[in-house]
Amino acid sequence: MAIATIDPTTGKTLRTFATHTAEELEAKLQLATDTFATYRQTQFAERATWMRRAAELLEAESSRYGRIMTEEMGKPLEAAKAEARKCATACRYYVSKAEGLLRDQPIEVGGDRAFVRYQPLGPVLAIMPWNFPFWQVVRFAAPALMAGNVGLLKHAHNVPQCALALEEVFLQAGFPKGAFQALMIETSEVNRVIDDPRVKAVTLTGSEGAGRAVGAAAGRAIKKVVLELGGSDPFVVMPSADLDRAVETAVTARLINNGQSCIAAKRFIVAESIAADFERRFVERMKRVTVGDPMDPKTDLGPLATEGILKGLHAQVEESVKAGTRLLLGGKPLERPGNFYPATVLADPPPKAPAFHDELFGPVATLLRARDVDHAIELANATPFGLGASVWTRDEAEQRRFIDGIDSGMVFVNEMVASDPRLPFGGVKHSGHGRELADLGLREFVNAKTVRIS
Ligand code: NDP
Repeated sequence: MAIATIDPTTGKTLRTFATHTAEELEAKLQLATDTFATYRQTQFAERATWMRRAAELLEAESSRYGRIMTEEMGKPLEAAKAEARKCATACRYYVSKAEGLLRDQPIEVGGDRAFVRYQPLGPVLAIMPWNFPFWQVVRFAAPALMAGNVGLLKHAHNVPQCALALEEVFLQAGFPKGAFQALMIETSEVNRVIDDPRVKAVTLTGSEGAGRAVGAAAGRAIKKVVLELGGSDPFVVMPSADLDRAVETAVTARLINNGQSCIAAKRFIVAESIAADFERRFVERMKRVTVGDPMDPKTDLGPLATEGILKGLHAQVEESVKAGTRLLLGGKPLERPGNFYPATVLADPPPKAPAFHDELFGPVATLLRARDVDHAIELANATPFGLGASVWTRDEAEQRRFIDGIDSGMVFVNEMVASDPRLPFGGVKHSGHGRELADLGLREFVNAKTVRIS
């Protein structure tokens, strides 16, 4: 796929970018290696100065970076600016925590001295998606750079200006040239980079298919890999929930980022006794969503990022309806230029419908009814994914059962699932493995070296 900025609001190609020649790619890989040799010797305090400056730049330039994001992938402008600012929080989190979290960790062995020392691995390849084109990258880069690694970014083909802007952030912040580089390469070249002995580890955020391909390539090369893949996350509402808040949050959780978030709530599993009420209120609220130009501050829901996403989503909706799913709202692309899909509500899909088991990456909500807690947990777990679950109940015994029973990397109670630098982020099952953010994210790309001195 060509590396290009194609405005999702109009469908017009605004800029195209040449891919690196073999020589250019070689030079970047060598620069990463050479830079690592000296960068790994830098002190935490020095890295922290640069990372603090990166945070300041992300905040100071949030309007400009926000416009680039919106132009390339269509999220509402205010959300895009907020994304740039959120990146600053991740930078600052690791400025304050990295040194403490990576300090030698003493172990009591009786007599001898023993400890774990955390050392950087080297150049890490990050294959990143377009949906949070700044945040996904920074949540990898901030801990990786603070740990003393250097980063190589292969961004999605439709957000090249975001990739270059991020390279600019780290360079202007003071990091050495080569500490963080954007690679303009096609997917077909990724395996070559993973195989290259100078690249020490890989992280991917993206689809299940990309996860299989990248995981297999990393496995062949025997390299550490973190996979943050999709989700078909449940949002469970039980009778004791605050229904007003649950409905309002459900709409936000489904439509965030034009519905294109791995942790967006996708399947709404509601206790039978309140299901009709929830359905009526939810549909009513989804009807009031304003669809339009993402640069317009009044817009709630902008276009989908690419024509491919639009077509794929609509095919899933059509197939679900054909399989017997009720269509309560929306259900077909809007007749206007760009990749616009309306807020859509489906209900009661049979198990064979894509809406029951697949990830629907757009503003399409699926409602399901649960007889009791056990049935709600069974439905929550009835997909190949397991990223983040949101559970709404004021009953503490029920809360404990959901926390233990749902197979996912994250459970949020009476709140929507959201990423936060302080909280580990990641999934189980086909949602991937490994963790980002917090202490666990920082320790993914280090050699935890055991030392025993007699
Ligand atoms: P992809 O998984 O195709 O893209 C994510 C990144 O992986 C991009 O940089 C892409 O590069 C790269 N990539 C894709 N295939 C390979 C491969 N075989 N080897 C190496 N790198 C690869 O996502 P899409 O944009 O196609 O979106 C499709 C679906 O993926 C969505 O509908 C959604 O279900 C899921 N998704 C999940 C995300 C999440 O946050 N977990 C984020 C984005 C998508 P390139 O763009 O050049 O193909």
